[in-house]
Amino acid sequence: GDMQIDIVSVFPDYFEVLNVGLFGKAIERGLLDVHTHDLRSWTHDVHHSVDDTPVGGGAGMVMKPEVWAECLDDLLGFEPPSITAASNETQHSNASAPISNNTTDEPAATSENALPKPVLIFPNPSAPLFTQRDATELSHASHLLFGCGRYEGYDARIPCYYRAQGVDVREYSIGDYVLNGGEVAVSVMLEAITRLIPGFMGNPDSIAEESYTGSNALLEHYQYTKPAIWRGMGVPEVLTSGDHGKVDRFRRDEAIAHTDQVRPDLIRQMDCKALDKADRKT
Ligand code: SAM
Repeated sequence: GDMQIDIVSVFPDYFEVLNVGLFGKAIERGLLDVHTHDLRSWTHDVHHSVDDTPVGGGAGMVMKPEVWAECLDDLLGFEPPSITAASNETQHSNASAPISNNTTDEPAATSENALPKPVLIFPNPSAPLFTQRDATELSHASHLLFGCGRYEGYDARIPCYYRAQGVDVREYSIGDYVLNGGEVAVSVMLEAITRLIPGFMGNPDSIAEESYTGSNALLEHYQYTKPAIWRGMGVPEVLTSGDHGKVDRFRRDEAIAHTDQVRPDLIRQMDCKALDKADRKT
């Protein structure tokens, strides 16, 4: 596919939902190559435990770095650092069988010779907000690898470690609220990213003029369809005039007024140059 997507979760079945709608069609057409992985398959204990109590005390459990690292080393094509240490050889011989067997005669994989520049993404409510700008940037990636957190989250050394290995590691929040796990957040990010991939949407124009898009970053104007009068309510007359210049002007005025009312923070962030002289003073 054009974009490889790996998702690690303790609930990989959750992602069955990706087979629905435009995303499912993109998988069928080979535009997206999606693989889900059960984090527990990288555990070695009978309980398949992926979490432990927080260092420093407190409620809940934190995802263990060892399990995540075995999983991510595998998926990134990295050698676990201790594989070369003689004292650990027997301990690790089963752990990373496919990868270590295939690469014994080769130098340890690095971000240069492993899978082409994967971006490793962890959803995290304490991270910077994921925006349309990030979605646009990531829609150009060839390989995305998502790690879904659960419980009280994951050990903070996991992203640090892979960043230090030269991996492009991102942590994103999808909004100011707390979910049970990263699965929903990954679905949200994936949908925002993949619909921007050329060929994903039937009509590419439909993504060119949406909210948060382009230099404007305004919210979209109101939308109407037929009938022109419904339950006694008409549509703005200018929209039926057939005058495209007037329609554009009206929609832009509406977008500015609407954004100012609902999200004044977006107007404040706007580049002044993105406003033209004809824009209504609000
Ligand atoms: N203890 C964490 C805190 O207070 O910030 C909350 C952890 S949350 C219950 C468990 C996992 O859900 C997180 O590790 C993350 O992967 C995911 N998650 C929850 N809310 C999220 C959000 N708003 N954005 C992105 N991921 C989120």
